[in-house]
Amino acid sequence: MTDTSFDTLCAQANHLVDPMYGDVVPAVHISTTFARNEQGELPGGLRYSRYGNPTVLQAEALIAKLDGAKEARLFGSGLAAAAALIGTLRNGDHVVAPRIMYHGAQDLIRKVASEHGAEATFFNQANPQALAKALRPNTAMVWIESPINPTWDIIDIAAAAEAAHSVNACLCLDASVTPAVTTRALDLGVDIVFQSATKYLNGHSDVLAGCLSTNMLDDRWAEIVNDRNLTGGVLGAMEAWLLIRGLRTLPLRYRAASANALAIARHFEHHAVVERVLYPGLESHPGHAIARGQMIDGFSGMLSLLVRGDTEFARAVTRNLRIFLGAASLGGVESLAEHRASVEGPNSVVPGNLIRFSVGIEAAADLIHDIEQALRKTEAELRS
Ligand SMILES: *Cc1c(COP(=O)(O)O)cnc(C)c1O
Repeated sequence: MTDTSFDTLCAQANHLVDPMYGDVVPAVHISTTFARNEQGELPGGLRYSRYGNPTVLQAEALIAKLDGAKEARLFGSGLAAAAALIGTLRNGDHVVAPRIMYHGAQDLIRKVASEHGAEATFFNQANPQALAKALRPNTAMVWIESPINPTWDIIDIAAAAEAAHSVNACLCLDASVTPAVTTRALDLGVDIVFQSATKYLNGHSDVLAGCLSTNMLDDRWAEIVNDRNLTGGVLGAMEAWLLIRGLRTLPLRYRAASANALAIARHFEHHAVVERVLYPGLESHPGHAIARGQMIDGFSGMLSLLVRGDTEFARAVTRNLRIFLGAASLGGVESLAEHRASVEGPNSVVPGNLIRFSVGIEAAADLIHDIEQALRKTEAELRS
């Protein structure tokens, strides 16, 4: 028998049909506690939902299968999962991460490193040699994203794994933008995959969740699992159920968003009011060849435009969009746009003329038209 394909696993949600009613949809187990039978035994082996809930376990089993992982654990948000992982840094450890990356995780690395007595080095993510040069004998953790948010620079994941493992460091990948539908992170040598399940995995902007998955069931993993159960950053059963529902269409949503983003990138690549399109799906992108090898089913719905203008111009373009909503987050079925430097605040190193788009699954022509009209309207307002 061949392995069940990714699409089939998603569509069927790893669901065993209920023996009593034959439900084709998984049930939601909202009970926080589970009763012992007359023999004093727990019939399902679960005692209290902070330690394990049937719906949460089902979502974790599905994600583990999709990721090709031995185990996956869900948390109440992406950053709760990231905190459990980054929290394993010890006094004297060294951690390496990109200079530009998802700013929330970078803030967390800075905070945990300083509190735990670890040292952090942030490398230039646009230079392919910079990661290996930043490593030291005491580097315990390397944290990467690929593509990098919000410049969409590409890091070669397999090369990063080889470098990290040469100093026995744990390679962690933030795969929020690149779920296993497109990037087989564990096969590329990543040790622990982190995902904000709030993004593509759920895909409908109605669940906050985070996930870690791994094949390395070592002391670090035991500490992470124990930390979640003790500090209580677990996912609720309703959220887990919604997440399972979202996962059923993950491949379809991801491919549709990727196709839309590519159409937008191509349309604006040689546009008078656009200085540069940042999207690894374009042949002109410096990381395209590596991206093609490690993003096997789409380059994601995430792209940025560097507009020809200053911060004020870029902010105005974002405000003048009508179909793209001016909101944070990414990976949902609806398209969003953000002026990233404003969102990240005064310490941001993101260019002022950068607008980040999370492209959804609407009609590509409508999305292209929306960006066109926003650019024209802004030119009329600010340059006439
Ligand atoms: C949203 C996001 C996170 C944080 O996840 P939350 O679910 O918001 O806590 C981490 N990394 C990336 C790339 C994200 O987009």
